[in-house]
This record gives sequence, C-alpha cells and structure tokens, in this order.
Amino acid sequence: MKKTPFISPLAWFEEMIDHCYDYAETAHVKGAPIVGIMCEYTPREIIMAAGGIPVCLCGGSAQRISSAEKHLPANLCPLIKSTFGYHLEKANPFLEWADLLVAETTCDGKKKMYELLAETRPMHVLELPQKVDDPDAFEHWVCELRKLRDFLEKRYRTRVTAARLRRAIATMNRERRLRRELAALLQADAPPLTGRQLLDLKSIISGIPADLEQYGMILKWLRSRPESPALRSRVRVLLTGVPVVHGAERVVDLIEKHGGLVVAMENCTGLRPLVDDVDPRASDPLRALAQKYFHLPCSVMTPNRRRLDLIRRLAADYRADCVVDLIWQACLTYDVESARVKRLAEEELKLPFLRIETDYSPSDSARLVVRLEALFETIRRSRR
Ligand code: SF4
Ligand code: SF4
Repeated sequence: MKKTPFISPLAWFEEMIDHCYDYAETAHVKGAPIVGIMCEYTPREIIMAAGGIPVCLCGGSAQRISSAEKHLPANLCPLIKSTFGYHLEKANPFLEWADLLVAETTCDGKKKMYELLAETRPMHVLELPQKVDDPDAFEHWVCELRKLRDFLEKRYRTRVTAARLRRAIATMNRERRLRRELAALLQADAPPLTGRQLLDLKSIISGIPADLEQYGMILKWLRSRPESPALRSRVRVLLTGVPVVHGAERVVDLIEKHGGLVVAMENCTGLRPLVDDVDPRASDPLRALAQKYFHLPCSVMTPNRRRLDLIRRLAADYRADCVVDLIWQACLTYDVESARVKRLAEEELKLPFLRIETDYSPSDSARLVVRLEALFETIRRSRR
C-alpha cells in the first residue's frame, strides 16, 4: 500500500496569500466590502462588525519600489514605497477589490502617501493622537473610533451594534491568544520551530475561520514534537523595530542562516499587537477597543516607555542573548528611538546590541552577514 506523503501542518500558511484571495473573492462576490488597512492602530474589529473584510495592504516587495520612486522621494521607507508601488501598478488584487481604505496619522511618510492614494481611492483617515499618557488624547481617540463606526454605518447602511462588536472582539482575541501561544513556543531552549517559521504563521486577513482552526492544530502538533537539538546551540535574538511584512523577511533569513534564532519579535508583525487583548466584558466595547489600540507601543507615540517595557519583558521571557534593532531606511521615529533601545540593551539588560538599517534590496546582504556573524561569534565566545 502506498504511504500518504507527510504534509506539515505549517504548509497551510505557506499558501496564505492564496487562502486570503479565495476568502476575499468569495466575500466580495457575496457583497461584503473589502476594506484595506495599513497599520496596527486600525481596529479590525470595527470593520468586521460593519460586515467588512479588513485586509492588510502593507507592501513587502522590492520590485514595486522603482515605480513608486517616480512619484515619491527615493529616501523614504521601503514599506511606504512598496505599498504605493502596488497602487500605481495596480498589482495588488486586494487593493483593487478594496471598496475603502482606512488609514491613520502615524509617521509623516505614510500620512502624506495616503493623500496621494486618496486622489483616486476612497479613504477614511483616523487621526491618532500621539501623547499616549494624556487623558485628553485618549478621549480624542475614542472620538475618532466613533467617527469611524458612524462612517462605516452610513457607507454600508448597517448598524455596528455592541453585540456585533463583541463578536468581532471575541474572534480577534482568539486569534491573538493562539498566535501568542505559538510565539511562546520559542521560549524553550530547543524550540520546535524557528522564528522565520513563526513569522509565516499569520495572515493579511485576520479572523478567517479556517486559519483559526489551523493555528490550533499547528499548536497541538508543535507541542507534541520532540525538541530540536540543532536550535539549542543557536544565538537567541530578540528582534526589535520596524514591521517585517510579507515578502520583506530577508533580515530574519540572514539571522537564522548564520547562527542566530529569532526567539521573539517585538515589532508589529510580531508580538507588539498581540500582547494585549480587548476586554470582552467591557460595558462599552468601542471604548475597550480604543483602550487596547491606543496603547500599542509604536515609535510614533511620545513618550514611548511602554515599548521599552515590552522589550524588557520579552528579553527576560525569551532569554535573549542579544538585541537586533531593525530600521527601514528613512524611518525616523524608529531610528531616533534606536538610541534608547541600545541603552536599554547594553546598560540595563547587559545584552549586546546591533542596529541594522536597510531597505528591501539585497545589495547589502553580504555586509549584514559579516556584522551578524561577528556579533554571534562574540556571544558564543563569551558563552565558552
Ligand atoms: S510600526 Fe507603527 S505605524 Fe507601523 S504598523 Fe506598527 S503601529 Fe502602525
Ligand atoms: S517603518 Fe517607519 S517610516 Fe516605515 S511606515 Fe512604519 S513607521 Fe513609517
């Protein structure tokens, strides 16, 4: 009898874009609006409660950058240029399906790029106040989320009721919990997966029922796997900084191909948006959403102490050997904040620190490998 070939449960997310395409296409045909988002401050739950499908449109492709540079400054973050390049080339089917974009005032580059997108695409902009400890700023954010709810209700002739918001919150809390549990597997000395594999376990569309089931199955499967002795000897890296969106994983690959293991990612494609849930029992679910999202520790906030607290916590929980701070070229907020992350790593946590500033092009890979190998060798020598 022929043996059925073993298919790793991780394979499901290797085809993440195809699954999202099928899901969005079916929803689109049935009349559900596709709503593009580009930041973790945008509460997906409000869009879901209005019957929409929120899709992350952040660009990770180096190929889209040259067309964007005809309109945008070359010295701009590659994530912004790539996202804009997809728009110019009409190369992202999800963007082409999108009935609406929900944007937000975070960094200057994104904010101004949104104005160009809005010339031809319907857009609603959330104004994100940036003084995170100021109660008035929080009230303004609550107000912005109410305006988004009212806008969606009007546009889609629907009611975003408390019950619908609670259902969306439950779905997103479940997804966050499952992804947190998957990430926590990397706390082990010899984890059953690499940081790169973990990075693939996410989707540009949240809350797809089949994805949630797969997260559960993968978790069960990984927990039953024997330890990976090969990963035990790797240098444990806490990766901080900018998001590593789909297609832009080069630095994570370089770290893991040259002796490191990315045990935790502090960024927006890692644990930052997952560490806090929305209170499912709050009497005002919209306010509860405002609470969770307003306190996301992105470098656009000032002061941004919560980010340093998160880094402290992750370094301890994941027993990091070093901190690698990734900055996309021309990302001023993360770049300036890098000095504080360095101080925290070296002076308080006593961990070696490496700042990597790069873009989506592989042209500096050889130089990065030299710096990473030197860092890992120093750590291995100090272990001996
Ligand atoms: S890093 Fe900041 S601006 Fe970028 S997606 Fe995250 S929250 Fe939004
Ligand atoms: S990485 Fe920095 S510059 Fe790029 S979009 Fe995010 S916050 Fe803005």
